[in-house]
Amino acid sequence: MQTLLIKEANKENIDIAADIIKNGGLVVMPTETVYGLGANALDKNAVTNVYKAKGRPMDNPLIVHLSTANDAEKYAYTNELFYKLADRFMPGPLTVILPKKDIVPYEVSCGLDTVAIRVPSNEIAHRLIETSGCPIAAPSANLSGKPSPTSFAHVVEDMNGRVDAIIDGGECDIGLESTVIIIKDESAEILRPGKITYEELKEIIPDIKINSAVKNQCTDEKVASPGMKYRHYAPSAPVFLVEGNDNDIINFFKTKQQTENCGILCFSEDEELLLSKNVLTFGRSDDETSQAHELFDKLRRFDNMNVERIYARIPSDKGVGLAVYNRLIRAAGFDIIKANNIQE
Ligand code: AMP
Ligand code: MG
Repeated sequence: MQTLLIKEANKENIDIAADIIKNGGLVVMPTETVYGLGANALDKNAVTNVYKAKGRPMDNPLIVHLSTANDAEKYAYTNELFYKLADRFMPGPLTVILPKKDIVPYEVSCGLDTVAIRVPSNEIAHRLIETSGCPIAAPSANLSGKPSPTSFAHVVEDMNGRVDAIIDGGECDIGLESTVIIIKDESAEILRPGKITYEELKEIIPDIKINSAVKNQCTDEKVASPGMKYRHYAPSAPVFLVEGNDNDIINFFKTKQQTENCGILCFSEDEELLLSKNVLTFGRSDDETSQAHELFDKLRRFDNMNVERIYARIPSDKGVGLAVYNRLIRAAGFDIIKANNIQE
């Protein structure tokens, strides 16, 4: 398949991309979180092609992207809490799961009676959805299992030849996927953490919970959000998280640098303490926003370094850090090493 690479999101090109969506094709669009692989959410064939292009298992449902929160009631049974959340966080990086209406095909929800709704704030995504006149089902535009794409170059690497068009929107602002929550009766649960934090959501939903799969391994067939059971976000070389005090971690990294062909993913302030060999940084230890923005790009870069293993710092699990922690621990397949156990 020939992929149209759209470098400029002017009106003429957005019209072309919207026509592709209307005609059942696939368009990769930038969003404020990560790039999304979009199709008309009401077209079963187009939606099925999304799974094929990504190599995504057919039991991992897609998020439906809308141009305004008011459109949600066309596709889902909304309630008061949804509109409270929408007032505060939409457009923006929040996905809300609600009971679905029949108009949404089961191909989108993978047989579930719920649908995930999001209103992206990225201007290009907004114009594409509005111009195409249909809801756009879009997972992250990476090949299944790889880190989500946060730049045009990442998407071209994964999707050139597999989709009809890719729109260049530069680097994604946030760099991690949306916060996913499910509304249950009058309360809610976080299924996937993101830029909108537990602490922020708590201001609107005081008893909001965090699903146990956010921080723990979960292979249960009945997991609330099917995406949480897969190995995810992974570069080619295996990733290991390293735990311990700062000194022990730096010593661990240095010893590994001397004895193995490895890559190190660390905080910016660690860099000068290490050998300058296959070290990538993803922000200061106290800068979770930068860690979120950098993580996927840095994980992808290790693929070009031919390292056999990657050792990474564990971020804080507070605020946006929880989202960084959640992605990194999955990239590592939950492999955590204690730094003070190193064999010298
Ligand atoms: P991605 O499309 O890569 O951003 O992933 C979307 C995430 O939302 C995955 O973890 C899905 O499992 C989750 N998701 C989408 N729709 C639903 C739904 N109806 N119920 C539960 N989780 C969902
Ligand atoms: Mg994804």
